[in-house]
Amino acid sequence: MRVAMVSEHASPLAPVGEVDAGGQNVHVGALAVALGRRGVRVTIHTRRDDPGLPRRVPLAPNVVVDHVDAGPPRPLPKDALLPHMDAFATDLRRCWALQPPDVVHAHYWMSGLAAMRAAAPSHFPLAQTFHALGTVKRRHQGESDTSPRQRVPVERYIARTADRVLATCRDEVAELAGLGADPTRVTVVPCGVDLDAFTPDGATEARALRRRLVVVGRLVERKGVGDVIAALADLPGVELVVAGGSDAARLDADPEVGRLRALARRLGVAERVQLRGRVRRRDLPGLLRSADAVVCPAWYEPFGIVPLEAMACGVPVVATAVGGMLDTVVDGVTGVHVPPRRPRRLAQALRALLGDARRRAAMGVAGRARVCRWYGWDSVADATGRAYEQLVAARRPDRLPEAVAR
Ligand code: UDP
Repeated sequence: MRVAMVSEHASPLAPVGEVDAGGQNVHVGALAVALGRRGVRVTIHTRRDDPGLPRRVPLAPNVVVDHVDAGPPRPLPKDALLPHMDAFATDLRRCWALQPPDVVHAHYWMSGLAAMRAAAPSHFPLAQTFHALGTVKRRHQGESDTSPRQRVPVERYIARTADRVLATCRDEVAELAGLGADPTRVTVVPCGVDLDAFTPDGATEARALRRRLVVVGRLVERKGVGDVIAALADLPGVELVVAGGSDAARLDADPEVGRLRALARRLGVAERVQLRGRVRRRDLPGLLRSADAVVCPAWYEPFGIVPLEAMACGVPVVATAVGGMLDTVVDGVTGVHVPPRRPRRLAQALRALLGDARRRAAMGVAGRARVCRWYGWDSVADATGRAYEQLVAARRPDRLPEAVAR
């Protein structure tokens, strides 16, 4: 089977942790690699953002990254990419005329748009993973949402017309129903975690204080790091390490870092907060393992790979009860759910957990067991592969281009 993945802004080759590079980059790369191991040939089409990049870069056995020329070859914010999706679609159509895919799998709404335009003339079956939905973003961010105004109507159109929508969690299924998606064409396939890289055993960073909390994520306000800093004021003797944001060398210029530092100073906890900036993936397991608890404090979270990474390391997760974390984190078993944007409630939950070593250890064991059972990339690739096979089987002869031409 030949699969064309489309991931317009999120390249699996990009450094992860900055503002527009996170879970989708990790997901697309790891899923493709796992599919490649199963003999599926995967091409990941992503926008060229550097003139020096070769057109095609091998990523793993059977997996190639293809740099598509669409817009200027330099980094652009993802919310500025829509005007370049016509060029993206034109380039895809050319590629697919030379090497037709059996299935097209688009990631994020703009990829879906470009992929639909390119796939439609040849009726290539299209699977869509949204990763995030504009309706949800608008609900939480209101006027500060910088998404193009076309986002919601385009998502509605894709949700209703894609051959299959792969939702990453049950909460997204409900959102998709609200957009008018046909429930029989929606399948839940979660994101995954690398069970070999993220393990309970292995090197662990030293701590400065007796108790440590860790947060990992892109530094954007809705990820809720400010709420953990606020909770820290009620948690004496506890340190907080935050991974994410700009590279350490450019950290001082990161506006979100400036805001969080000022907050920490105002609350008198600056001494106990370390903002590390972007941490390389190979250094993350040692950081996660050094935590008594990993906090996932997002105001909303379409899926959230970080909780899986923490559980895979055998660390309890204190997560807001939103989005994908309602599925992944089992309240009272692998971690604790707290309401979003409530630092006091967060502090209460953390104080109870930090005071109970037995409970933390049991949650760590349960978390590792849960991710091994459901969230390894091999399981995710199997479920995705099954969806692809159904799409290929359902490709009705009357929809084939030959039949159309006859
Ligand atoms: N990440 C990383 N280094 C950092 C910050 C984040 O490698 O400094 C990774 C993190 O480990 C996770 C991904 O970025 O794999 C974030 O994915 P998640 O789904 O949690 O959030 P999203 O970025 O999709 O909002």
